[in-house]
Amino acid sequence: MSTSFLPARIAVSRWVPGERLDAPEADPAPVPGAPVVGVLALQGDVLEHRRALRRCGAEVVLVRDLDGLAGVDGLILPGGESTTIGKLLERFGMLGPLRRRIDAGLPVLGTCAGMILLSDELDQDTVQPLVGGLAVRTRRNAFGRQRDSFDTRIEVSALAGGPLDVSFIRAPRVEAVLDDDVEVLAEVGGYPVMVRQGHLLATAFHPEVTGDDRVHHALVEAVRASRPHADGGVAHG
Ligand code: GLN
Repeated sequence: MSTSFLPARIAVSRWVPGERLDAPEADPAPVPGAPVVGVLALQGDVLEHRRALRRCGAEVVLVRDLDGLAGVDGLILPGGESTTIGKLLERFGMLGPLRRRIDAGLPVLGTCAGMILLSDELDQDTVQPLVGGLAVRTRRNAFGRQRDSFDTRIEVSALAGGPLDVSFIRAPRVEAVLDDDVEVLAEVGGYPVMVRQGHLLATAFHPEVTGDDRVHHALVEAVRASRPHADGGVAHG
């Protein structure tokens, strides 16, 4: 028998699929000075993130190797299968270089499997390659199996504009915060599902499939802020 981990009030409030997904699919002309944001494209829902980032004015690069990684000012680790993505990062020699870029301040958004990969620890006995950097202990598949996936609206303390539309798909959750630097931005059932630690942002859910782009906007703004002297970056007088 499956158990529902959801408070009833969450299950009744749903976003409307496709409501805001009306952006054109064609490759947009590059905008000079646009922040260059990569999406790690080894496995997972890469194209949805590319679409969302484009709607936020970023130039998007699909990162599949070290050269791709070297060329980006920010990065998304997408949802998918964290074991697969981690093993591919290891096999392609990208784990160490990615860790070093993160240590040097690269703004990164990890969503779902991406949150798992960013975590310093997992709440499980089996070992899998992790990127790390985010001082949390995360539990994979914490809301149940595929059939327990759900769409919802959640309150996110750091985002203006009301509740955020998101999808939880075999989602993890944070079981423990391991450092005072980690800010909990949203919770479900008393567990953190969105956290920020400096330049690292992580969501247990998928913010890229609903057309509500505020999480991607937050990343793009963090990327702009991390390179304030670039042409077309945010001017501060
Ligand atoms: N359950 C997957 C994992 O453990 C994550 C699912 C997702 O990214 N939607 O990697």
